[in-house]
Amino acid sequence: MEYEAVIGLEVHAQLLTESKIFCGCSTKFGAPPNTHVCPVCLGMPGVLPVLNQKVVEFTIRAGLATNCAIQPKSVWARKNYFYPDLSKNYQISQYELPICLDGWLDIEVEGENRRIGITRIHMEEDAGKLVHDPSQPVSYVDYNRTGVPLMEIVSEPDLRSPEEAGAYLRTLRDVLIYLEICDGNMEEGSFRCDANISLRPVGQAEFGIRAELKNMNSFRGVTKALEYEIRRQRAILDEGGKVVQETRLWDADQGKSFGMRGKEEAHDYRYLPDPDLPPLVVDEAWVERVRSELPELPGAKRARFMEAYGLNDYDAGVLTAGRPLADYYEAVVAAGAPPKAAANWMMTDLLGALKAEGREIGQAAVKPQGLAELIALIDSGAISNKMAKEVFAEMMATGKGAAKVVEEKGLTQVSDEGELEGLLKEIFAANPEEVEAFKGGKKKLMGFFVGQVMQKTKGQANPKLVNQLVNKLLGE
Ligand code: ADP
Ligand code: MG
Ligand code: ZN
Repeated sequence: MEYEAVIGLEVHAQLLTESKIFCGCSTKFGAPPNTHVCPVCLGMPGVLPVLNQKVVEFTIRAGLATNCAIQPKSVWARKNYFYPDLSKNYQISQYELPICLDGWLDIEVEGENRRIGITRIHMEEDAGKLVHDPSQPVSYVDYNRTGVPLMEIVSEPDLRSPEEAGAYLRTLRDVLIYLEICDGNMEEGSFRCDANISLRPVGQAEFGIRAELKNMNSFRGVTKALEYEIRRQRAILDEGGKVVQETRLWDADQGKSFGMRGKEEAHDYRYLPDPDLPPLVVDEAWVERVRSELPELPGAKRARFMEAYGLNDYDAGVLTAGRPLADYYEAVVAAGAPPKAAANWMMTDLLGALKAEGREIGQAAVKPQGLAELIALIDSGAISNKMAKEVFAEMMATGKGAAKVVEEKGLTQVSDEGELEGLLKEIFAANPEEVEAFKGGKKKLMGFFVGQVMQKTKGQANPKLVNQLVNKLLGE
């Protein structure tokens, strides 16, 4: 039997606010345990939550960027359950009336565009963290993360393969980073994903029974967990068995998932409107203000880079992978560099050097202006492409300007026609056979003549000019 996978993803994205969602405690990662806490986020009696406006603003941003309808009125709900990392015994979330509904995100898989529905986006608070000490029969609890703002983004079951799920996650993550509302760090857990997956016989409209996969902390982990689950469910269905609706934990080390618990149902949580928080009202003016302030998103930027700078799809994709990189590129072009040359230098030399140094674009010793100057020196014929590589390496290492490095290294290119003509005449005189062969049509000998000139000038002759001169002198 042939099966088709049906996948829907629930992404939890931590919002980049300074303070928590309902109190003034810091959201900073890595503080000593239980130092970023207060009576509100710990859920002491008699205290009241106060909503952080930034959380709403950021979620509206995400909603607009994913084509959702922003709801004028949304409602806070309590999701009730006991767990030691949740001192209030309920999590404040949104349930029946979330802030964003019915959006979509376009993704690209193997060169084809797919539109993935976004069911909803809602805001909620994070829980604390249990720390297990394997050397002792105890566990600790750290409430610093309690009340850190999260956005949950739920997709429609529109994804059909692990590759599509990966593409969706990458695209969504890029969008959130562009919006500057989430750092997208999967390893640190600021961008987490639960994956729901079922199989159905190809051609069947009805969905099969799904499993929910948790605990993947990388894109690769998500893809692997989904692949494993497809094999597991297929084996069950092929034997005539039934998939159990359950939550499964992915174990990256073993490359397997394990059933954790039967899937809870919404009614198990006794969702109730939170009596401490009034319904959230977002007026049209607020939404329109946020809309007008949205940055250009990755997809639009990529299309514009292809259109405006004549870049191919791949190059435009690389250069728009992050806002700082895209801004850098546009600054190089604005400083006068031809768009293609700027792209080539950035994609090979600059990104290569940064990767080797383990640095980000913002930390590059060569600034856009500097790269543009270097490219201008090549274009004017002052230095060769080969010399420019050496100059660039020195600029990266020292932070010096292009012209200064060229001067210090005495790397000027010989572009003096008279001088090069003189050299060529000597070379022709010493190699009459080659000259005759060239004249007779053996144009391959161009390389020989250029090589000779390079030898005599220690590689400093302008090769393009030498080419022209050989043709001029030996042509008709
Ligand atoms: P819950 O809140 O119980 O996790 P939801 O209805 O919110 O359930 O759905 C969660 C996710 O599961 C959504 O992303 C949705 O697209 C996906 N989903 C729902 N049904 C299926 C199914 N049969 N197979 C795969 N994914 C599914
Ligand atoms: Mg769920
Ligand atoms: Zn607090």
